[in-house]
Amino acid sequence: MGKKELAALFSSNPDRYYKVSLFDKMGFMRKKCNRCEKFFWTLDIARDFCPDHENYGFIGKPPTNKRLDYVNAWKETEKFFRANDHKIVRRYPVVCRWREDLYFTIASIVDFQRVIGNQVVFELPANPLVVPQMCLRFNDIENVGLSGRHYTGFCMIGQTCNADAPGGYWKDKCIDLDFGMLTKGLGIKAEDITFVEDVWMGAGAFGYSLEYFVRGLELGNAVFTEFEGNENDYRVMPNKIIDMGAGLERFSWITMGTPTSYDCCFGPVVGKLVDMTGTDTDQELLTKYFESVSLKLDNKTGGSSSSIRDLKLLIAKEMNFSEEQLSAFVAPFEAIYTISDHIRTLVFAISDGALPSNVGGGYNLRVILRRALSILERLGWKNIIRVEDIAELHIDYLRQMYPELEDHRQDVKTILQLEASRYSSSRERMNSVAMSLKSSKKAKELTVDDLIRLYESDGITPDFLMEQGIVQNVPSTFYTKLAELHTSQVSSQSSKPIPGLEDLPPTKLLYYQDGSIHHFHAKVLKVVEGKYIVLDQTAFYPRGGGQEPDTGEIEGVKVVEVTKQADVVVHKIEGGGGRIPAEEQTVHGTVNGRRRDLITKHHTATHVLNSASRNALGSWVWQNSAFKEETYGRLDITHHSTLTREEVKKIERMANWVIRENHPVIIKTYDRGDAEQQFSFRIYQGGIVPTSNVRIVNINGWDIEACGGTHVKSTGEIGLVKIVKSERIQDGVVRLEFVAGEAAVSYMQQLDSQLASIAQALGSSREKVVESFDKAVQDAEATKKKLRAMLRVVSVPIAKSISEQAKKLDSGIHLYTTYDEELDDDYHIAIGEKAIELDKHLVYLALVSKGQGIRVIVFAGEAACKKVKASAIAKQVSGKLGGSGGGDNRFGQGGGKSKDRIREALLLAEEVAR
Ligand SMILES: [Zn+2]
Ligand SMILES: [Zn+2]
Repeated sequence: MGKKELAALFSSNPDRYYKVSLFDKMGFMRKKCNRCEKFFWTLDIARDFCPDHENYGFIGKPPTNKRLDYVNAWKETEKFFRANDHKIVRRYPVVCRWREDLYFTIASIVDFQRVIGNQVVFELPANPLVVPQMCLRFNDIENVGLSGRHYTGFCMIGQTCNADAPGGYWKDKCIDLDFGMLTKGLGIKAEDITFVEDVWMGAGAFGYSLEYFVRGLELGNAVFTEFEGNENDYRVMPNKIIDMGAGLERFSWITMGTPTSYDCCFGPVVGKLVDMTGTDTDQELLTKYFESVSLKLDNKTGGSSSSIRDLKLLIAKEMNFSEEQLSAFVAPFEAIYTISDHIRTLVFAISDGALPSNVGGGYNLRVILRRALSILERLGWKNIIRVEDIAELHIDYLRQMYPELEDHRQDVKTILQLEASRYSSSRERMNSVAMSLKSSKKAKELTVDDLIRLYESDGITPDFLMEQGIVQNVPSTFYTKLAELHTSQVSSQSSKPIPGLEDLPPTKLLYYQDGSIHHFHAKVLKVVEGKYIVLDQTAFYPRGGGQEPDTGEIEGVKVVEVTKQADVVVHKIEGGGGRIPAEEQTVHGTVNGRRRDLITKHHTATHVLNSASRNALGSWVWQNSAFKEETYGRLDITHHSTLTREEVKKIERMANWVIRENHPVIIKTYDRGDAEQQFSFRIYQGGIVPTSNVRIVNINGWDIEACGGTHVKSTGEIGLVKIVKSERIQDGVVRLEFVAGEAAVSYMQQLDSQLASIAQALGSSREKVVESFDKAVQDAEATKKKLRAMLRVVSVPIAKSISEQAKKLDSGIHLYTTYDEELDDDYHIAIGEKAIELDKHLVYLALVSKGQGIRVIVFAGEAACKKVKASAIAKQVSGKLGGSGGGDNRFGQGGGKSKDRIREALLLAEEVAR
């Protein structure tokens, strides 16, 4: 049974599913759409089709006396629901840190969904609640700014409750409230409201829903999630969920009746941009145009949505405009709307810790930013408007509703400036690619795949190609296809499970009880294949969270690997021979305490460094991944650029300061919802925690993370942390390698002894080693200089003797060949050059031994190169040596690796010369 059948099933019993008390109270009639056969509820006797087929009847004539801009539309909503006993919850981050399958928060209900095992569970911080959730979606980019209603970032008002928990309610009250919100809150008349019957299917749960429309505009959808399971096998959920989502952009739009929703949802931004760019406004014309667009675009029942470009042709005709005239009028508005949307999305994403990049979710952010920049360029606005200024305008307006944006104003500006300057420096390369495209005439045949390749390899957006006049329009599928290429790929690296452990009870974890337990007694519950042992309790830490496992012994048999399978810890043993413990036996286990201690210090140091990095660099720094070993640790952080030496030092200084302050490390288990509320989603540095309780490692407020690893009791125990290397390992990710505790001391000692031996070799002391080194470098330079001068003096007599030694071939060529293991290419280049100057018939070939290979150097004199080119000899000889070569008539070079073919190579040269 698919969605359609399910809809039919629900609609076949409207009294059970769709009829709410409001419909009876108010006299709503149920009707069947005469065009698409959907059922809907209305007060209008004459209406015989559903709102899907309806023109937007509110543009220029809003159905209410209230005029609510974006922020005021929210204030009105907030007021209404607060008065009706709803808790107003602050928005969740747009970067979805709590779901592995999503980069971004795409709907308000996502806030409250957690995945445990294979199941999606709902966790509500209050009941009932309303949240103004910013949501990001990148599947419709090409319509954004053009359609009047599409966004990459929008606010979904989420009215959510658990119907079966205290405070909860079900569909009657839900629709009463929504109706009240529309009529009392927004001032819309009851006759203007239509409810349409629909179904909603999610992961593991589904239900029926009532979408509500006013004058052709869908304002919200109340989903009654009543069933769990799938369409063929389901039951009523014990905790039914109301998930009403409404677009704040639409709430505002319906009351304002502006040509597009963009005109009323970006506060003063659109108006300011219109002023700054000197764009001509003609409200009447704009209204007429966008009314037509809204009517014709994406006619749902028509099936396929026609592209905006085709639409424009149609509308131009209707308005008695040429296509060019219409474009000239509309294009600046489309540009302003698009840029406003894109920058607003970036404001939220960057504030919530995301970075534009070439990977993961950052990809979409870079796409929209580059799109905005290239539009500014195309319209000649790049010197009038800076993207960071638009961001400031958004923050100025939105902080009334989202005060947290103010805290990230500087971060947002920093990142936007950086990305904009990267974009402009890459434009030079883009220009040259564009030039060659223009001249190649291939431009006409560019397919969507070609365009994607151009974006991927050279960062060239279709908007840029439009600006260059290379393509006429952006194919409607471009951004969709691009997004598909970069959608989340959830990797599962689970190794093959060990069989027979399913029914075992969870292992008691002694390492959590007390990290200092290194000796313990336990009962053997299971032995698999003579090498995997499961105990009832263990002090062995299993591999996990980037922390390497403990090693040690069980009854004298070596433990080489420890893993966790579900709740069961598995010890892999090696070399047990006949001494493998038996099931039911009580055994004694010993953990290698020194190893554990070193790993533990590296682990706590990771947490310290992570927060030090964020404090030193910016709030976009998150742990990307981490690894903790006995001898070193590795922390990958999200950051936009390679670290400077100063930045590394700053992080190091800060981390060591936290260590010296000797902060207590407090470990406590919390209910997950409480932890998220109390400490924010920053706790998910190491990824999502798939359980209802989380273990929080709190370094006295300096760093707070959900983490299952082992930690020191206070930071002083780490002793010292030293970053040994920092490296940008991918776009947007920087790797820090570091040593802590004893490993740091060993590292320092090693550096020290290296320094000592360098000093000794220089005949200097450690204190003066830098001076001595500089002097040694100068000496070496001077020696080289002297050698070159000497070479000039001796090159003439040597060249003469070479000419004499050369074989005089019948071809008239004088051939000199040599294989040299002592002198380098500098020497042979100097001599060869001089020799062909003196003897115009000479061919000079030197094979110079260089490490594992051979360098080939060939000179041919003026007369000789008329018969054989230096490049040809270099090529053939190098080929013989298993390499390649080339050059010009006079000079050729190359090389190869086959030292065993030197003789053959020299003979070949002679053959060629003959
Ligand atoms: Zn219909
Ligand atoms: Zn950790």
